[in-house]
Amino acid sequence: ERLKSFGKAEGVAAARHVHVIGAGVMGGDIAAWCALRGLTVTLADQDIARIAPAIQRAHTLFKRRLRDPLLQRAAADRLIPDVDGCGAARADVVIEAIVENVEVKRELFRRLDAQMRPDAVLATNTSSLRLEDLRDVLARPERLVGIHFFNPVAKMPLVEVVAAEGADPAMLARAAAFVRQIDRLPLPVKSAPGFLVNAVLAPYLQAAMRCVDEGLSPETIDEAMLAFGMPMGPIELADTVGLDIALAAGRSLVSDVSEPPTCLAERVAGGRLGRKSGSGFYTWR
Ligand code: NAD
Repeated sequence: ERLKSFGKAEGVAAARHVHVIGAGVMGGDIAAWCALRGLTVTLADQDIARIAPAIQRAHTLFKRRLRDPLLQRAAADRLIPDVDGCGAARADVVIEAIVENVEVKRELFRRLDAQMRPDAVLATNTSSLRLEDLRDVLARPERLVGIHFFNPVAKMPLVEVVAAEGADPAMLARAAAFVRQIDRLPLPVKSAPGFLVNAVLAPYLQAAMRCVDEGLSPETIDEAMLAFGMPMGPIELADTVGLDIALAAGRSLVSDVSEPPTCLAERVAGGRLGRKSGSGFYTWR
């Protein structure tokens, strides 16, 4: 229920202008997606040479998703390189998608805070950093939220909206409404390591790779999990995510505990065994 209503609060004005900082893998694709969905987008990068290829990728997306050349042109016109550095001051939503480094992000937020409208949403796309470690350079630290897209942006409907301790509810509501506005599903999550999706995914990928260590072939594991109903095999998924990222995520998100999760042990001890006993995590009739 909470998931269904998240981002549907009344009285939240639609965003018109999004400013994206970082024209890399994620920022470029977030900017393209927002322009496709009808928003004006300014795209900035400290390395100007990164912006043109991102815009090229965006044009490919517009051609694929919009048949009418006039609509393609309109989308292309909505995506503007932020050459004069004025995008942040005008935007309703600012999304940071720069290098995953606490100090570099803090320095950027310090500058943005002075430029942005007080009512604009300031969001980070960080996958692994604590929002609490990024926001104390802001005059109102509670304004920072996470809007965490997945790669590839155009194919992944889920977007995590991350609430750090004491985050401004109005900013979270606007962030969630913005995610709905661009036709993505906002998932409310806390600012905990891995948020929700990566916290669940990292141990799964690592367990699959342990099977490779033990002698199973990647093809066998992927075929098995595909036949089990997963949309993509875990080894192919690890390759897609990038093995350096999978290694770092495994290191920070997979704890080597032999104890089962408390919620599991308690249910079994209480006879709540799942479907067969009428209840487990859910109630089954
Ligand atoms: P990337 O290396 O592809 O792009 C980063 C871009 O930021 C580069 O173009 C770089 O020039 C620019 N940049 C660096 N410092 C800057 C600064 N101070 N000001 C302006 N521009 C600056 O990185 P990416 O993979 O797109 O990741 C960006 C963010 O998105 C990270 O926080 C990462 O955790 C997060 N993220 C990545 C993925 C993924 O699959 N790659 C998925 C979800 C979230």
